Amino acid sequence: MASDCLFCSIAAGEIPANIVHEDDTVVAFRDIHPQAPVHILVIPRQHVTSLDEAKKEHVELLGRLLLATGELARREGIAERGYRAVLNVGDEGGQTVEHLHVHLVGGRRMGWPPG
Ligand code: 5GP
Ligand code: ZN
Repeated sequence: MASDCLFCSIAAGEIPANIVHEDDTVVAFRDIHPQAPVHILVIPRQHVTSLDEAKKEHVELLGRLLLATGELARREGIAERGYRAVLNVGDEGGQTVEHLHVHLVGGRRMGWPPG
């Protein structure tokens, strides 16, 4: 855990969040500024800064993150219509919190290309 990391603090239960899933590897909670009817952040418990920092040792973690995202999409009732799973990476990618996270967004039609 990185002591100055917002998402590490949420995963540790030190900062409140609307948590929708927790297991030994993954925590998921509703985004504080939702961009769609469903907007959930799916994060690893382990502090990894971004996809750019991910290495072979994180292969299980990355797989669990994506599987949890798909499972949550089904549970939230957005899987049938379709949804977006997004990883913002670095400055130009729009990443503002430096703890790897997947945005699960759905419940409305998504545009392409992204802004
Ligand atoms: P990023 O911009 O790094 O891809 O995504 C960070 C996300 O974290 C943003 O969508 C933002 O709304 C969300 N966020 C920032 N601070 C908090 C917080 O304290 N609680 C929750 N639940 N979400 C947060
Ligand atoms: Zn962290």
